[in-house]
Amino acid sequence: MPTTTADIPAVVSAAREVFDSGATRSPAVRAASLRAMRAMLVENEAAFEAALHADLHKSAGEAQLTEISVVLAEISHTLRHLRKWTRPRRGPVPMVLWPARAKLVSEPLGVVLVIAPWNYPVLLLLGPLVGVLAAGNTAVLKPSELAPATSALMAKLVPQYFRDGAVRVVEGAVQETTDLLEQRFDHIVFTGSGTVGRIVMRAAAEHLTPVTLELGGKSPAWFDDDAHLEQAARRLVWAKFTNAGQTCVAPDYVLTTPDRVPALVEACRKAIADLWGTEPRASRDYGRVVNERQFDRLVSLLDGTNVVIGGEHDRAERYLAPTVVTLSGTAAIGPDAAHPVLREEIFGPVLPIVAVDSVDDAVDLITGWDKPLALYVFSASARTRRLFEQRTSSGAVVHDAGLVHVAAAGLPFGGVGASGMGAYHGTYSWQSFSHLKPVLRKPLLLDTLRLAQPPFHDLGRKLAQRLMRRG
Ligand code: NAD
Repeated sequence: MPTTTADIPAVVSAAREVFDSGATRSPAVRAASLRAMRAMLVENEAAFEAALHADLHKSAGEAQLTEISVVLAEISHTLRHLRKWTRPRRGPVPMVLWPARAKLVSEPLGVVLVIAPWNYPVLLLLGPLVGVLAAGNTAVLKPSELAPATSALMAKLVPQYFRDGAVRVVEGAVQETTDLLEQRFDHIVFTGSGTVGRIVMRAAAEHLTPVTLELGGKSPAWFDDDAHLEQAARRLVWAKFTNAGQTCVAPDYVLTTPDRVPALVEACRKAIADLWGTEPRASRDYGRVVNERQFDRLVSLLDGTNVVIGGEHDRAERYLAPTVVTLSGTAAIGPDAAHPVLREEIFGPVLPIVAVDSVDDAVDLITGWDKPLALYVFSASARTRRLFEQRTSSGAVVHDAGLVHVAAAGLPFGGVGASGMGAYHGTYSWQSFSHLKPVLRKPLLLDTLRLAQPPFHDLGRKLAQRLMRRG
């Protein structure tokens, strides 16, 4: 039965009861939960593929490579390291406190709310859940209402695979999420837009709940690698047009020098044809825009641009061809840009190529606005690569490719500034969803604490002071 808003407090308190019972704390139960999630994905692979196709026209290949297998890899990585992460570590104790012993114990936070967007509805709901369960928490999942087939599948399968009630699903849109956010959680992982991110953070502040915000923005790419033009263009268009451009870490726009624009356009044209054919609409590997509202927004973005590749669209199918545009005039990017395609996150299959005079101008453009979630550099020059690494700030930097860092379970994934706060994946999920608790024991015998207690005597005070200043 679908959850209604009236049920929400009961769902959250049921998840809290399971947490409070201590049932999710033991390492064996945590590993079992991860294996249950793996079984849910593997035993229902076809159903997940079908749901992703229904929601986003994702091909089975893309569903596997960009969603299902990424979660399975995260589960394997976590299972491999879980024992090591769970083990208490010895904590250092300064000489001034000797004799004493300390250890560092990772404890679960409690009930974690995971709110997901529609664009990678499996990956972005279950990816965070891996770390949440590994850390011994219970979870309430809120899938996106804009990927209804995936949301319904989650609501059906989760209770079957998590019979202990440690994971619960609340389906719904704004009202349900608003009601959820009124409840007290111990952590919230939100993936979505900056606008809703602000709403989530405001609601979390009421309960002093910590948040991980995985947001979006305009991720730039720089291109100047003439020697590897063909390969670079292929990787660039693959990163951009996968999932019809509806990827938070897709390159939003490309910066390059004016002399390189014509060759880059031609290389992109060839790469698009190699990947999706000359008629991408007929390719079973090319996605669709999620809904008509997004479709209309994207098509209107083309007004006033020079469409140099693609541009064909069909509202009935929500099809928008892989499209490359150029813009005449100044290359401002940000809130003051002349054209909306350079002002707002595109989040669809439209790639502006923007000419700038030099790599330094590109750096200035990027640093002049919000810190992006990802930055891609296609350059054979080590100096240029270093320039971007050192002079710009972004969630991640990837050289010579796009998107791939998301699949590296050992690297932190997250934004900085306007692109988000906190990070997850692998050990970084563990850190985000656990509390690292120092436990210190200072034996009563050999009572050296007396030196720090009044009445102070010169000798004792000086000795304690000296030891303290050593750190
Ligand atoms: P969104 O912010 O509209 O919605 C995300 C979630 O918030 C959904 O579950 C939705 O039901 C809920 N929601 C929407 N409006 C709400 C409101 N007023 N109050 C409470 N909850 C509300 O985002 P979206 O359209 O689903 O996804 C697109 C955005 O997500 C883009 O900006 C993209 O860059 C970003 N994104 C980021 C990442 C990342 O990992 N950093 C990944 C994917 C998408």
